[in-house]
Amino acid sequence: MFPSSFAYHRPASVEEAVALIGANPDAKVLAGGHSLIPAMKLRLAMPEALIDLNRIDALRGISVNGEVTIGAMTTYAQLLDDAGLGGRFTVIHDAADHVGDVQVRARGTLGGSIAHADPASDFTAVILALGARVTAIGPEGERTIEADDLFVDLFTTALRPDELLTRITIPAVAGTVVTAYAKHAHPASGYPVVGIAAMLTMEGSTVSAARIAVTGATSKATRLTAAETALTGQAADAAVIDRAAAAAEGLEINGDAYASEEYRRHLVSVLTGRVIRQAIARAT
Ligand SMILES: Cc1cc2nc3c(=O)[nH]c(=O)nc-3n(C[C@H](O)[C@H](O)[C@H](O)COP(=O)(O)OP(=O)(O)OC[C@H]3O[C@@H](n4cnc5c(N)ncnc54)[C@H](O)[C@@H]3O)c2cc1C
Repeated sequence: MFPSSFAYHRPASVEEAVALIGANPDAKVLAGGHSLIPAMKLRLAMPEALIDLNRIDALRGISVNGEVTIGAMTTYAQLLDDAGLGGRFTVIHDAADHVGDVQVRARGTLGGSIAHADPASDFTAVILALGARVTAIGPEGERTIEADDLFVDLFTTALRPDELLTRITIPAVAGTVVTAYAKHAHPASGYPVVGIAAMLTMEGSTVSAARIAVTGATSKATRLTAAETALTGQAADAAVIDRAAAAAEGLEINGDAYASEEYRRHLVSVLTGRVIRQAIARAT
């Protein structure tokens, strides 16, 4: 299938991109193109113009300095190659390693994944679990949006149509903080049928804080607050982990031709228990 015709712009700076977005209300920005181009070929998206971000070097890269800042155009492959990042937040490697295939990881970007807000994106759950925030720039200047406020609904974020997502920031962590991600991948695409990301703060064997998020099962990535509550302040023994995993089931869950609502609900519970155990094992 061929997309409908469109104009093509290739700005060299964030400022130029923002000006082009303002001047072309029916345009879309192009990052890795792994979600947008298929949608255009199916004519589910028919933008009048594409604003290609690939020449804007300022949107790429990872800096680790207390907090971690990741440029929106940083690819999954770059996330995987960054040893400092992987050592600190293992969840990022866990997730990036299993996104699609090698071509998707080479071109797909963290910013594109988050802005697209596919209900089965791996990284929407990851940035929720990490308590990250995103920075967006538009005609009225720059603002930050907490991950907790970012995902509004299916393919819908709090980003305004004239805003460009520029970077993702993961706050600095103190103490023993461990993370993990696990998914049941769709056998054809690799997308998570269900994916669970967790970040736990440990004081000895006690979980003093927990952030756990699900993707794939609901219309948008969502915190598993009941599981977090069941875990927080508890010595993480087998019974506590089982209770947290069971608490994760109380969500409105979607079913489809591949995986029924009941099957996904079961996966949410199994994978929640699994990531909690994986994360805790990393504390020792
Ligand atoms: C075969 C295949 C398998 C895949 N498997 C997985 C998988 O297992 N897990 C997974 O999570 N994903 C998977 N994906 C999706 C992949 O991760 C996409 O790359 C990602 O969802 C979108 O990132 P992108 O950089 O390609 O964005 P694009 O496709 O270029 O853009 C997506 C949308 O976001 C907007 N956008 C992009 N960047 C910005 C920005 N900086 N600011 C504002 N808006 C922006 C675009 O305008 C567009 O609407 C798969 C894709 C394919 C083709």
